[in-house]
Amino acid sequence: RERNGHEPEFLQAVEEVAETVIPYIVKHDIYYGKNILLRMVEPERLISFRVSWVDDSGEIQVNRGYRVQMNSAIGPYKGGLRFHPTVNASILKFLAFEQVFKNSLTTLPMGGGKGGSDFDPKGKSDNEIMRFCHAFMSELFRYIGPNTDVPAGDIGVGTREIGFLFGMYKKLKNEFTGVLTGKGLTWGGSLIRPEATGYGNVYFAQKMLETKNDTIKGKSVVISGSGNVAQYAAEKVLQLGGKVLTLSDSSGYIFDEDGIDADKLAFVMDLKNVKRGRISEYLESYPNAKFIKGKTPWGEKCDVALPCATQNELQEEDANTLLSNGCICVSEGANMPSTKEAIAAFHKAKILFAPGKASNAGGVATSGLEMTQNSLRFKWSREEVDNKLKDIMSDIHKSCSEYGTDDDGYVDYVKGANIAGFVKVADAMLAQGIV
Ligand code: NDP
Repeated sequence: RERNGHEPEFLQAVEEVAETVIPYIVKHDIYYGKNILLRMVEPERLISFRVSWVDDSGEIQVNRGYRVQMNSAIGPYKGGLRFHPTVNASILKFLAFEQVFKNSLTTLPMGGGKGGSDFDPKGKSDNEIMRFCHAFMSELFRYIGPNTDVPAGDIGVGTREIGFLFGMYKKLKNEFTGVLTGKGLTWGGSLIRPEATGYGNVYFAQKMLETKNDTIKGKSVVISGSGNVAQYAAEKVLQLGGKVLTLSDSSGYIFDEDGIDADKLAFVMDLKNVKRGRISEYLESYPNAKFIKGKTPWGEKCDVALPCATQNELQEEDANTLLSNGCICVSEGANMPSTKEAIAAFHKAKILFAPGKASNAGGVATSGLEMTQNSLRFKWSREEVDNKLKDIMSDIHKSCSEYGTDDDGYVDYVKGANIAGFVKVADAMLAQGIV
């Protein structure tokens, strides 16, 4: 706390883990007295660098780039790049810390990292995005590699940006390797990677519902965000027979009482991914829907809530509203979207609640599968990757239940995910000595 007091998001993420992991450490001699958590909260390396680039009007712009290499005990650093004006060291350290536990849970050999820039992609031309990505990679390339650190996308970084970043890495190193994941299908990408985080989140929600002999079928579902994770979470909900009522972006949310069906979702995908428009434009094609400006969708009555936008978007009062409206399941697609107080409310009400480090791990897991395919120089079919994703989400659910089941039978998925993630990384760190 003394060392990181100026980094609120990082402290929040560490405290959530410490609350559940410290009691476990105290009960297990192999971890006790070794300052293992203290070692885990300090990044192995934090790189910060200047990114200068020229905008379309010929003016020189300067942004700050980062890569946090948090923990490599169980594999090369792995985690996304975020381009958003709010990016700073605190946010990236929180994300990198969470990533260590998440990657451990996937059962694949991946360490944890995260990076990005305070660059704002909104309103930039394709050429500006390309020049920025090239400038960013012209520094980052020194610190990454297929056996060292393998970045991926996150907020503001999709297939277009990964393409520009990959192109510059390839040019500088003169090698075609799996140094980034989330690549396009014709140049090393994996089938199902774009869908994986959203699909995986819904697979996890389905697993939780199964423990109550229930399913997504017939459920009304409220989703926040309208980016990569939200879009594919919505697609999977529809495939499994649920009804999607909302989507959002940073300007507000849309509520469609008739449900956002497959055709309407295709419209949103085109609006967001191709036209790069705002979610409010949904009403121009579907005037029966409502747009609620400047608000999150948690006030709408639903059975299942999937927060898929950003950190701390679901607060205590939102949690209480969801609960009083009868919500029985919350599965996080975003990283740390629920505040500590909101999680406490869900736990008190004993509803099904999955933290992002478990329920959104399908994205990085499929990135791991992309790395495997790149190493093998081989390509698995859509069904093969989707089946592996389903199995991984099911295994994560099992690990969470193993470590998170309370005496009364309630599964605390936060505790389960934290301890299961911790054990594997801690064991590797202990085996490798003090390095
Ligand atoms: P995208 O950039 O594709 O979409 C982000 C969505 O969230 C947009 O609708 C965006 O709206 C909204 N959003 C972003 N910041 C804010 C904010 N401050 N307030 C309200 N809305 C906001 O990102 P992803 O879908 O990839 O990521 C969403 C979340 O999922 C993030 O927390 C990310 O870390 C997490 N995640 C993503 C993975 C992936 O594979 N992509 C893997 C695991 C986790 P707007 O366009 O207005 O900014």
